[in-house]
Amino acid sequence: MIRGKTALVTGSTSGIGLAVLQALAAQGANVAMNGSRPAEEAEEARRRIEADYSVEALYFPADMSSPLEIAQMIARAEQAFGSVDILVNNAGVQFVAPIEDFPVEKWDQIIAVNLSSAFHAIRAVAPGMKSRKWGRIINIASAHALVASPFKSAYVAAKHGVAGLTKAVALEMAQDGVTANAIAPGYVWTPLVERQIPGTMRARDMTREQVIEEVLLKAQPTREFVTVEQVAALAVFLASDDARGITGAILSMDGGWTAQ
Ligand code: NAD
Repeated sequence: MIRGKTALVTGSTSGIGLAVLQALAAQGANVAMNGSRPAEEAEEARRRIEADYSVEALYFPADMSSPLEIAQMIARAEQAFGSVDILVNNAGVQFVAPIEDFPVEKWDQIIAVNLSSAFHAIRAVAPGMKSRKWGRIINIASAHALVASPFKSAYVAAKHGVAGLTKAVALEMAQDGVTANAIAPGYVWTPLVERQIPGTMRARDMTREQVIEEVLLKAQPTREFVTVEQVAALAVFLASDDARGITGAILSMDGGWTAQ
């Protein structure tokens, strides 16, 4: 039962994270939002969630590349709501460049935000989930947790890491009523995808249309983008009691990409 539980979704001011947060709120979960957004905008988003779904919503501006801020966010959410029952590790960034030109600071940022943040957040929620004998950890990985693409070394490494982290945590908490799973979406039309188009145009010497058709949608046999609502619906199912038997799974939602 999701109603009355508390869900914390990292990077939930935009794209997939926002859709997951809204879908969990629609099921009656109180929600903790996080992301990098100007304070006024964040407050407006928080109020809208409370008004639209009649749940409690809090906003935490924690920087997901900071272990300290992540630990503080989880502690404050637990203090305010009494528990964090559903943790969705979603915050993520991307950078596209050939390995020899890949800026070292971009590598460090992507590993911190896309991989290490999930470790820090899981580490902080685990004691509470174990003691209550109920918890759901949902990591938003990627098709790039299973296969690679050129020019995305940091992202592919981080997402493969998320898959391994998901499996290890699932095994550790298998008998504690806590599940840990990853959703591995293919291309979902969000600001993250839109922002990587210029870099891909440069790296592959292509036009914007060529990148969309010949790089992005080419990977997906359906030739369609996955939608944020589809990802959110799977997250809601994984958070439900019916999904108790699913743990340690990397669930593809990629229009057939990794079946090839
Ligand atoms: P997005 O850019 O729309 O959203 C990213 C979110 O992360 C935003 O809320 C942003 O504020 C937050 N964020 C980024 N850096 C942060 C930081 N340092 N601290 C706190 N918050 C931070 O992107 P999206 O496409 O919705 O991506 C969400 C997740 O889904 C990412 O992990 C991404 O890798 C994954 N994913 C996306 C796609 C896709 O095609 N869009 C495919 C597979 C996986």
